[in-house]
Amino acid sequence: MQEILKRAYSYASDYLDQGIVADYIPELGKEDRNNLAGVLIDKDKEIYKIGLHDYKFSIQSISKIAIYLCVLETCGFEEIKRYVGVKPTSKPFNSIIELELSNKRIPVNPFINAGAIVCTSLLQKKYGKDTFDVILNKLMLLTDNENLDYSNSIFNSEKKTSYANRALANLMLSHNIISRELDIDEFLDSYFKSCSVMVSTLDLAKMSYALSEDGINYSGKSVLSFENARIIRTLMATCGTYDYSGEFAMRIGVPAKSGVGGGIVTAFINKFGLATYCPGLDSHGNSYCGMRFLNSVSDDLNLKIY
Ligand code: GLN
Repeated sequence: MQEILKRAYSYASDYLDQGIVADYIPELGKEDRNNLAGVLIDKDKEIYKIGLHDYKFSIQSISKIAIYLCVLETCGFEEIKRYVGVKPTSKPFNSIIELELSNKRIPVNPFINAGAIVCTSLLQKKYGKDTFDVILNKLMLLTDNENLDYSNSIFNSEKKTSYANRALANLMLSHNIISRELDIDEFLDSYFKSCSVMVSTLDLAKMSYALSEDGINYSGKSVLSFENARIIRTLMATCGTYDYSGEFAMRIGVPAKSGVGGGIVTAFINKFGLATYCPGLDSHGNSYCGMRFLNSVSDDLNLKIY
């Protein structure tokens, strides 16, 4: 296993100068695109690590898994379908035109910004000021790490420059998809805090392990139902890397969810935990070298499921 990780690391390292670090959230622009990491957990819970595996970065869109899970557990799939679909997207993760053109103007899926924002608003209606804590708690259970917290500087940086997300939220308020009883700043704060939660690649590999093991986390606790684990893996496969999801499925061949912080978490069925980190991104917002790292591992371990 360690040899396989070494090979993947060396292959991905050749592309370190290709990725572009996201700077539309200014604080993210400070990351070094030469930081690369990978962690694999095998069926016997043996952990294999390479690179900066304990370096902490912001989870960004990977938090959308926890947000959707919390809504699934609160409202159930049939109810949520009135607010957010499960269709793949052909547009960037923060697209406004997609929201305008979509059926009943509801976000096409929960793994793009509009979808996660409407899900956060549903949680805000139910949990009020505790909303972020509910999401954070779910992330702690998934990663099996009770010490997770968000970065105040990344949260403030995103909040200050959240023009596009505010536009999406306002559009959904104007179409009555988000309840007007809610305060836009309050539910957006919960969303931005969720995106600013700091995780390591090891945390994400443990999250991958829980999703792969049908909801049983690394220390053996049941943290989501079998059925919801199946729903999340399906969404990861079809929507997890935004408008690149089709090509990602073809090239890398495993369900995955990325974030603009540079993390990618994968999922399997009763097999592994696998995650990677490198903050240089491709034009879709997915880690450039992270994808190459995963491609090498999935080739060597014959993981492609399609
Ligand atoms: N916080 C980011 C945003 O809302 C998350 C986007 C992402 O990781 N794709 O823009």
